[in-house]
Amino acid sequence: MNKYGLACFLAYRLLLLVFANGSGSKDRDVGDECDDDDGGGGGDHDGDEGDEGIHAREWITPATTTYFINQLLTSQDANITRLRDRFDWRIFPTVNPDGYTYSFNRDRMWRKTRSRSSMFCYGADPNRNWDYNWLKHGATSNPCDYQTYGGPKPFSEKETRSLSAYISSLENLLAYIAFHSDAQMLLTPYSDSVEHVDNYNDLIRIGKTSLEYGERVNGEKYDGPGTAAELLYKASGGSMDWVRNKLGTPIAYTYELRGTYFHWPPNRIHEQGDEVTQMLLGLFTEAEQLGYF
Ligand SMILES: [Zn+2]
Repeated sequence: MNKYGLACFLAYRLLLLVFANGSGSKDRDVGDECDDDDGGGGGDHDGDEGDEGIHAREWITPATTTYFINQLLTSQDANITRLRDRFDWRIFPTVNPDGYTYSFNRDRMWRKTRSRSSMFCYGADPNRNWDYNWLKHGATSNPCDYQTYGGPKPFSEKETRSLSAYISSLENLLAYIAFHSDAQMLLTPYSDSVEHVDNYNDLIRIGKTSLEYGERVNGEKYDGPGTAAELLYKASGGSMDWVRNKLGTPIAYTYELRGTYFHWPPNRIHEQGDEVTQMLLGLFTEAEQLGYF
């Protein structure tokens, strides 16, 4: 059990799942969890869900998410404690643990999972493997592609299969927030279309407030909010699009954090950790203003 899971069991009554995703890893203990069904602060909504580290090399995303968990659990700031108590949070700091480990031990630029994809090649892109418009845009069927192989079929990867099954089991999911790096922008659904979702204007407004809160921390400006198709490139088969389309989750975002070639100095993690904390505070402050909860 990792220390946050342990701290959660011993000291906190927050409904929180800290959970390294996956069920088939040979040598890593996955599935640490802390689940207090008494409901923590008694939020009306069953949760806010976020996945981080789905792309192995994007190291700043597990780091900032872990930082955010610590903020939720220990901050004395009334805004943060209120944010904590208002919802049932599910936070997944590392949803591609095999790839993450491989990026530490063998190949710093590794992005995919570590499943066997052909005789000589490994891994599929776990953010091109979800069952919505699979392989339609920005993904390849070449199992040896270094970056964006979508897998042999939707949900071929145990990481996406188990995470999607878990998310589907949640009722009344208010928000889904994914973290990537390092394009420094905020993305709304859909990532593979320039057509806008029905609450697009709300998502833009909420996203702008989120970015304003974040900018106040270090003066860093993000691009967006907007769709990936308009700001970055079209990409199908990602987690945010699947959640929005299949579950109708009203608030769905992907944050692209900062960095250079996926590098960020460890002694400056707190900068982005504080930014992310404030961005999420801004997000839910504006969403409340607009009547989402
Ligand atoms: Zn990514």
